[in-house]
Order: sequence, then C-alpha cells, then structure tokens
Amino acid sequence: MALSRKKATTQLTGRIVFPGNPSYNAARMEYNRRFSKFPRVIVFCRRTQDVINAIKWARERGIPLRARSGRHSYEAFSAINGGIIIDASEMNKVTVDRKKMVAHIQTGNPLERVYRKLWNKRVALPAGTAPDVGVAGLTLGGGIGLLSRKYGLTCDNLEQVEMVVASGRCGAKAIIANKNQHSDLLWASRGGGGGNFGIATSYKFRVQPISTVSIYSITWKWSDLDKVFPTWQHFAPSVTNRLTSTIEVSSKKVGKIESTGQLLGSAEELRQLIRPLLQVGTPVKVMVRTVSFIEATKFFAASDLNLEPKFKITGAYGYQPLPRDGVRIIRDFLAKAPNQHATVWCQSLGGAGSTVSRIAPTGTAYPHRNAETIYELSARWRNDNEQPRNVQWVKRFRRALRPFVIGDYVNFPDLQIKNWPKAYYGANFARLKQVKRKYDPHNVFHFAQSIPVGNKLKKK
Ligand SMILES: Cc1cc2nc3c(=O)[nH]c(=O)nc-3n(C[C@H](O)[C@H](O)[C@H](O)COP(=O)(O)OP(=O)(O)OC[C@H]3O[C@@H](n4cnc5c(N)ncnc54)[C@H](O)[C@@H]3O)c2cc1C
Repeated sequence: MALSRKKATTQLTGRIVFPGNPSYNAARMEYNRRFSKFPRVIVFCRRTQDVINAIKWARERGIPLRARSGRHSYEAFSAINGGIIIDASEMNKVTVDRKKMVAHIQTGNPLERVYRKLWNKRVALPAGTAPDVGVAGLTLGGGIGLLSRKYGLTCDNLEQVEMVVASGRCGAKAIIANKNQHSDLLWASRGGGGGNFGIATSYKFRVQPISTVSIYSITWKWSDLDKVFPTWQHFAPSVTNRLTSTIEVSSKKVGKIESTGQLLGSAEELRQLIRPLLQVGTPVKVMVRTVSFIEATKFFAASDLNLEPKFKITGAYGYQPLPRDGVRIIRDFLAKAPNQHATVWCQSLGGAGSTVSRIAPTGTAYPHRNAETIYELSARWRNDNEQPRNVQWVKRFRRALRPFVIGDYVNFPDLQIKNWPKAYYGANFARLKQVKRKYDPHNVFHFAQSIPVGNKLKKK
C-alpha cells in the first residue's frame, strides 16, 4: 500500500554516527565479517524515546531500518546498506529483585554482563555461552545454553517485554507485552525471532537461585567418532535434566572430539553420570570439577573466542539419534572439510523431564519442543577467496543430513533454506503472521527472512 508521507519533522536523538565520523567503521561492523554493510546512519539509543524518534525519523523519510543489539546475527540481519541501524547496545541497565526472583534487563546487554550482574545477587537466567551475544536477539529467537534442560530456554523465562512498535502512518510508540496485555506479542517474542515486530528495549525475566555447579570436559581422538557420537546422542537426552551437555567434532585435520557439560550437582555425581562417556573410545583428557556458576560461564565462553572472523553456519534439530548413515555423513564431510576450522556441534535440549520439552510446541512461538538435540554445522575462514568453497560445503552438508534432522533454529538463520518459515516456525508461522499484521501492518520491520504481513515471502 502506498502511503503519503508525513512531513519529516522528527530529529534523531541518542549517539548518532554518520559516514565520515571516525567511529563509523567500528560502528557499522557485524560480528560475522563475511558481511560489510554501509548504513546511512547508526543511532546508539540511550532511552526508549531515542528508539521512538529513530523509528519515526526513518518512517517520515521512507528510509529502511534495522534493529541491532549484540550484532551476532549469522546472516547480518541487523545490518543494512543505505538505511538506519537502530542500536540498543547502550541501553544496558540490569536490576534484580531477589525477593520476587525477577530481573529487569535492558536489551543492550551482552550475555557476559547479564551473567555477571545476576551473579552479584546469586541468581541466573538460562542463556547462551558466547559472552558478547546480545540478550536482545538471543531471547527473541529462543536462547539455548547450559541451563536449558533444567530451566528452559531464555524466552521461557521472559515474563514481560517493552517494545517500540510502529503506529499510525509514520509514528512509533512503546508498549508493554505481558500475560495481561498484548499477550499475543509476548507469545511471538518467545521464539518468533528478532527484528520482526518492533524494537525491544527492556525485558523482565524470572531468575533462578544459583551458587556452584559442576562441569566436565572429555576429549577423544577423531578416530573414536563412530563410537563416541552415537553414545553421546543416546546419553545426553536420557540423563537427568540437571545436566545439559554438548559435543563438538572438529575437522579431521584438527582431529579432536570434545564433550562438555554442566550439572546442577556435585562433581562426584557428575563423574557417575558421565560414565557412559568415560567408557567409550579412549578419552585422552578428562576434567571434572565443581566451580562457582560465574566461573562456569567463563569456561564455556572460552571456546567461542579467537575464532576465524568470517563464517557460514547452519542449524538443525535432532528429534532422534542419528542412524549409522548419519554419523557416516558427519565423518565424510569433516574428513573433507574446506579448511581446518570446520566443525559439527551438538547440544542436548529435550528428553528426561527437560523443561524445554515440557512446554507445548504452540505454547510459545519457539516450536521445536520435542527435539532431543540441536546441531550447528559451521565453516570459518579468514580470506574472501575461501568463501565460495566454505559456503558450498555447508550447503552440501546440510543437504546430506536432511533425511535425519528437522528444521532449523531461527537464531541460527541460513539464507540458503528456501522453506525457512517451516524450518524455523513449523505450525506457529500462521499465528506469527497474525501477530505481524496486528503490530506491524505496514511491514516497517522487514529483512530477507522476516515474517511477512501477507502470504508472499520477501525475495532475497
Ligand atoms: C559466537 C556466537 C555464539 C552463539 N551462541 C549461542 C548460544 O549459546 N545460544 C543461542 O541460543 N544462540 C547463540 N548464538 C546465536 C544468537 O542467539 C543469535 O545470533 C542472536 O540473534 C544474536 O542476537 P544479538 O542481539 O547479538 O544480534 P543482532 O545481530 O544485534 O540481532 C539479531 C536479530 O535480532 C534483531 N534485533 C536485535 N536487537 C533487537 C531488539 N532490541 N529488538 C528487536 N529485534 C532486535 C536484529 O534485527 C536481528 O534480526 C550465537 C551466535 C554467535 C555468533
């Protein structure tokens, strides 16, 4: 629908960075250096009113916009050429009400700061591992991590969101979504994905008491893959929900398999629980210890540092363990990886009383409640000339595994997935479109894989 535009009267507020400003280059870059986009302006908002002004400014001038917080979108959905980036990263207050066991967390916070601020009050929010991932995007897409099986996804603990949505012909307004008002928007904010309905400025989460946890790491040689991977796949969803674990298989060239995990319990109990893993293949290194929860977050964060700067990643869910043919595909692809920085990573999510699977697939917008595990297939590189073969490898790998896995996690977006609405949202897509029509009828918030207002999907 063509809208006649209102006179452009709104001014940008907050910290405004235009091209030519010395900080422009740093301000425009995404975490994934595969992308290099050049926005017309970037606004670092400090108050909700700055977000409202930025959306109005963009709408009055017909300038496309993107919401951005932690910049970790795999496909750079928070960046744009020629448009305005509305960045929440300087809105980073955290307050904890220990009596009510809730935390108010502004959306500009990276996970490391969330964990640290909550730890000061000895509480925790189940969230992801990488320290600089934004709580903003993580929550809106789901939020998986080492407390998932016991306490659910990050979005399962979201009680309220403040969001600036488009209003009227060229306006914007802040609204509160919780179980009593705009409950459909709260439902959509729990797994519907970032950037679709408006710009979230603040979250209210339920939090959990925390003190010490026990963690483990076991490494094996690559040649143990055929024994270790199936054992982990049967073990991880069947063990107590107080233990969430991962397995990562490197390229054959690096030659390593590592499983890690976190138990809400003692090191002794953890040693007992992981016996099936200790007894398979020939572990070359084993670590089991009890640490403070904040130390555990640092342990899991460490593996996400110092990686190659450009990457292509795709995700998928395991609703059941891979058969032998599936494990063979993993072995074959990692044996012929385009470079050594290619991996398959897997985390347990469901099974044995897991809180993730206790919620119905339609209970929140996040649909993959019955998956036992989640996979990430990744290739990383440094130089542009390596890109085509790495991207192709991920594409072929995904295709080869398709008979054995289902869908993808909206927070591991992949532009190569044609039927992404089904992959990310399953049966929830129809309801997400209704919410979209209600809160963003003019499709102000759109990008290559955004939820459409009508039935047509956006062309890439
Ligand atoms: C190294 C690395 C480690 C990761 N580890 C985990 C993990 O352990 N667990 C897990 O679940 N996921 C993980 N992820 C995936 C992560 O959850 C997603 O990349 C997530 O979208 C990042 O959010 P962000 O705010 O950092 O990113 P951004 O790129 O800023 O935003 C991501 C999306 O959300 C939108 N958005 C951003 N801010 C807002 C806002 N305030 N309001 C509305 N929409 C907004 C953007 O427009 C974009 O579409 C990881 C990613 C990386 C790169």
